[in-house]
Amino acid sequence: MVIILNQQVTDAQKKHVLDTVLEAGATPYPAGPTTVVVPGNHAALTEKLASMPSVVQVVPIKSPYPLASREFHPEDTVIDIRGHIIGGQTPTIMAGPCSVESVEGIVEIAQAVKRLGGHLLRGGAFKPRSSPYSFQGHGEEGLKMMAIAREKTGLPIISEVMEPDKVALVAEYVDILQIGARNMQNYPLLREAGKSMKPVMLKRGLSGTVEEWLMSAEYILAQGNPNVILCERGIRTYEKATRNTMDLNAVPVVKHLSHLPIVVDPSHGVGKAAFVRPMARAGIAAGAHGVIVEIHPNPAKALSDADQTIDFAEFGQMVREVNLISDALSGSEKDHVLMHV
Ligand code: PEP
Ligand code: MN
Repeated sequence: MVIILNQQVTDAQKKHVLDTVLEAGATPYPAGPTTVVVPGNHAALTEKLASMPSVVQVVPIKSPYPLASREFHPEDTVIDIRGHIIGGQTPTIMAGPCSVESVEGIVEIAQAVKRLGGHLLRGGAFKPRSSPYSFQGHGEEGLKMMAIAREKTGLPIISEVMEPDKVALVAEYVDILQIGARNMQNYPLLREAGKSMKPVMLKRGLSGTVEEWLMSAEYILAQGNPNVILCERGIRTYEKATRNTMDLNAVPVVKHLSHLPIVVDPSHGVGKAAFVRPMARAGIAAGAHGVIVEIHPNPAKALSDADQTIDFAEFGQMVREVNLISDALSGSEKDHVLMHV
């Protein structure tokens, strides 16, 4: 169950609520100033709590990820990033290089993202590379370069954080913290990202099930941070024709189970530039709230993920097509149907 306390709750009232839960043999988990999660449903306890003046509501929830579930929060979550809304009707387009390479480079790319209809600038500064000998990113210097690009274009920025003790540093620069596929189940990192209260984009792990992914989101939400965006970036299957298999099933499934916005990353999802645009279209058609893609003025020269990086012309075409598909679907009842499956 989830206990919602009133906004004016005093420390003494909150303690009384927590003690009441403990006395009933259950464990309370405070999740933000006015929310307490108690695993399981306890009829007698629910009744007792509901009669307390500091308690607004007790929501009975069966889901293993109560805060991420639609049972707790039936309406879609929308997240405002410097005035840009993620999770609404208009698809969010995030684009940029896999790795931030130079200040001139990231500014040129940011200007292209803006000119061609993108909304946020992506770029890796701390890079999770499969080989320790590959370019590892420029670290804090890379974040400074992104901040300059934001200043010049007004585009909000998103960048990955890999370590719990770097969350505060990365959060100083970015508008959205990215948690990468390899870290979907790095629980100390999820907790720190939750505590930072920055919006977080949580990528699905290479072998993460939808349930595991949503439980990872729960780690962030349980710290009182409601601003989580999910990102389907392909899972590992037996298929070798593409780098990963972008699991489009996950888009409607997640939208049914959770109120959190979900975007797709066809760059990592397919791993080959030629297939990025069609799969961006497919993601939007499946109901994703946006796409995140890797772009570069000269993809062959990109310092990381060159094979899956598209150039500006291809990106411009992708934006046009994504918007066409979204417009064609606007006004359809798809989301209402989903909520009542
Ligand atoms: C990236 O966005 O560049 C990245 C490393 O993504 P993922 O964590 O999905 O592999
Ligand atoms: Mn990449």
